[in-house]
Amino acid sequence: MKRTHHCSELRPAHAGQTVILEGWVHSRRDLGGLLFIDLRDREGRTQTVFDPADIPADLVARAARLHSESVIRVSGLVRPRPTGTDNAKIPTGQVEVMVRELTILNEAAVLPFPVDDPELANKVNEELRLQYRYLDLRRPEMMRNLRTRSKVAIATRSYMDEQGFLEVETPTLFKSTPEGAREFLVPNRRDPGTFYALPQSPQQFKQILMVSGVERYFQLARCYRDEDLRADRQPEFTQVDIEMSFIDREDIYALIEGLLKVVWRTALGREIPTPFKRISFQEALNRWGIDKPDTRFGMELVDLSEDFRGSKFGVFGNAVANGGHVKAINAKGLAGATQGQLETMTEYAKSFGAKGLAFIKVEGGEWKSPIVKFFNEAEKAALISKLAIEEGDLILFAADQWLNACEILGKIRLYCAEVLKTQGKLVIPTDRFDFLWVVDFPLLSYDKEMNRWYSSHHPFTAPVAEDIPLLTTDPKKVRGQHYDIVVNGVELGGGSIRIHQPDVQKTIFEDVLAIPAEETQSRFGYMLEAFKYGAPPHGGIALGFDRLCAILCGTTSIRDVIAFPKTAKGVDLMTQSPANVSARQLKELHLEVKAAKKDA
Ligand code: ASP
Repeated sequence: MKRTHHCSELRPAHAGQTVILEGWVHSRRDLGGLLFIDLRDREGRTQTVFDPADIPADLVARAARLHSESVIRVSGLVRPRPTGTDNAKIPTGQVEVMVRELTILNEAAVLPFPVDDPELANKVNEELRLQYRYLDLRRPEMMRNLRTRSKVAIATRSYMDEQGFLEVETPTLFKSTPEGAREFLVPNRRDPGTFYALPQSPQQFKQILMVSGVERYFQLARCYRDEDLRADRQPEFTQVDIEMSFIDREDIYALIEGLLKVVWRTALGREIPTPFKRISFQEALNRWGIDKPDTRFGMELVDLSEDFRGSKFGVFGNAVANGGHVKAINAKGLAGATQGQLETMTEYAKSFGAKGLAFIKVEGGEWKSPIVKFFNEAEKAALISKLAIEEGDLILFAADQWLNACEILGKIRLYCAEVLKTQGKLVIPTDRFDFLWVVDFPLLSYDKEMNRWYSSHHPFTAPVAEDIPLLTTDPKKVRGQHYDIVVNGVELGGGSIRIHQPDVQKTIFEDVLAIPAEETQSRFGYMLEAFKYGAPPHGGIALGFDRLCAILCGTTSIRDVIAFPKTAKGVDLMTQSPANVSARQLKELHLEVKAAKKDA
């Protein structure tokens, strides 16, 4: 008694055959003695019929008592469905199986939620779905996501293999390195007070592999970051991690464009045009106010600094006089924004240190705004022509240092787009993919509170060669050989050409980032040492694999493409991890837990 077919396979051509199917009771209908069970397995569904005219009454009765999701085996005869009862929604909708024998392999208890409801995700809270993840994964929508993820992983591996890459596994018990995020630590029983750290990325190992002569490395690498989680973050996540020797940025662009072509073809059957557009960090900020712009809609930032130089409106005039910028966006159709919406936008401005948010509502042929009275005719004319102002528009301004002004409006632009979308005034096509390379990032950013420079990407990123002399004289002008790949406003990944000369790397650590020499030695000494023995020029990139799969599956949450994700609090609700450990385990690890603070 072995199954002969999957529940997706039977067609009218199978009529007259005796088949054996195994699977879960998806749904059941009792039509006055005649019982229909939709049987489901991983591949699909088939209608089975228990007809008391054909089989003993007790067999029908046993079937009628089955709870949904019980596991059964049936054997029976395939026949075309009676005229008019076809189900065009499923591929097996033209046939049914007249059951002769039923084996109950395992009866299911009453379920915490129905598995056969395609709208379930909107009805049941996600915590319940995560607690019973095995049931949630049985839903065809989730099974489809797992399948897409698997296909994309396999396509990635074979593409990388064709391109001459070796898949190399790197350790997940690593040591603490200041790469940016907070780390998970693992106590070392053998040497009290020492710890492994789970890697934030295989960055250092993949660079060392280049020194080893591997030339082309990749890995579907698990990475760990102990950050406060946001909607699209998980404490552990997967990257397509890549490193190559003897290359420049163009090689990375071509490799990734080729990979994404294969991936889009595999998952969606879509051909994506390459090469992708490239824009500089400067242009991305100037036009969209963000380094990962969603270019599927306009509402671009407009620079009005020259128009308001010397303006009587002090907020604008002074910003320009202090070397800052006046920028604006036109949220077309949003003149009716509510007080609450304006307050949300004002909060964004304030979170960047602005005192408030200037705006103009264009309603009833008038400019309604507390600031318009300060504008002269030339300033008004500049606004009309540069922002194409019309009835119904909402104009929003930022006057600040360049980066702040851009970032404030960048956030407000996305917020306005969401509001306009829900009002049906803006349509952002979900089946369009706007890929972009964002390049020419500043190598360094300044931390005002700490009063020091830090790496915009990570400390291994090479400066653009001609900017190296500026490293010690004018660090903010140094561009990094860093690139990000962005699609529809989502950062899919990023990487850089690396520093391969030990002296330049040492200068970055000690002179530019001001890491004390002993610390450089204890944390990165082995790398500087390795670089002395023939390090080839190299560079690489990492793509967020969970995010990539989420985009391909058309979901905004990476939890939908991870089999066993954690909640925003970092908890696995199914296994109840993390959990307490025994006093003996703690002792072995030379650890002591101070009384947990309840509210901390
Ligand atoms: N290690 C970097 C990251 O995880 C990517 C790279 O530079 O290749 O973001």
